[in-house]
Order: sequence, then structure tokens, then C-alpha cells
Amino acid sequence: MRICPRCDKKFPDTYSLCRDCNVELVLSVEQQEAPDLVVLCTVLNETKAYIMQGFLESEGVPCQLENISFHAEPAPVADLMKVRLWTLREDAERARSLLEERESIQLCSVCGTEVVEQDEVCPHCGEQLEES
Ligand SMILES: [Zn+2]
Ligand SMILES: [Zn+2]
Repeated sequence: MRICPRCDKKFPDTYSLCRDCNVELVLSVEQQEAPDLVVLCTVLNETKAYIMQGFLESEGVPCQLENISFHAEPAPVADLMKVRLWTLREDAERARSLLEERESIQLCSVCGTEVVEQDEVCPHCGEQLEES
């Protein structure tokens, strides 16, 4: 993404001049500061989230935690504590399989929320869970 320093319009990388101002485009700072992050999963236990973060980072997958407990809608008790793990989009798939294989953490394949083995449907989005 490139951006015109004069009018702030955004252009694809293939453009080098702003069509309106004829000014040379610069790389969008915004994009450099905000990497392509996706929600890897939602965990219902903050301590566990920290353990998962430590585990992933030891595997070379940087991740960030976001506690969403306080700005959640009124929700069932199980949803009171929620922590999201964010990773780079390119790392998400690998991170997810690392968690499932090595940490035995079950994630809903639809909403990415942690589920327990006894659950037959995801308590968060209602998705039918596969037996594993
Ligand atoms: Zn311009
Ligand atoms: Zn779900």
C-alpha cells in the first residue's frame, strides 16, 4: 500500500505517483505499524493464555494477548473471562496446529474459541464439534 503525502489517498503498490496531485507516493506508515494480525483463538482463562503465548513464542510464533473480558456484552458466566490471542496471519495455521497437537488444546474450527473435549457443540457459536 502506498499513500500520497499530500492528499492521503491510498494506492496499490504498483502506483508511484498520485493521480490527483502528481506527487510521489510513499509507503503507507500505517501499514508498516500494523502488521496483518488475526485472532488465533479465544481462551477462557488468562493464565492459560499466558502459557499458550509463552509456548508459541518459544516455537518462534510471536503473539499478543488481548483481554476482552471487560468490554464484552453481558454473557454467560463461562464467557466472563476471555482473552484473545493474536498472531500474524501467516503464522496462524501453524500456531493453531501447534496448540492442538502439543498442548492438547481443543479449538472450535469456526470461531476459534477454546472448547473442552466433552463439548459436542461449541458453547460459543453452536458449531458441531468433530470427535478427535
Ligand atoms: Zn494526492
Ligand atoms: Zn465456535
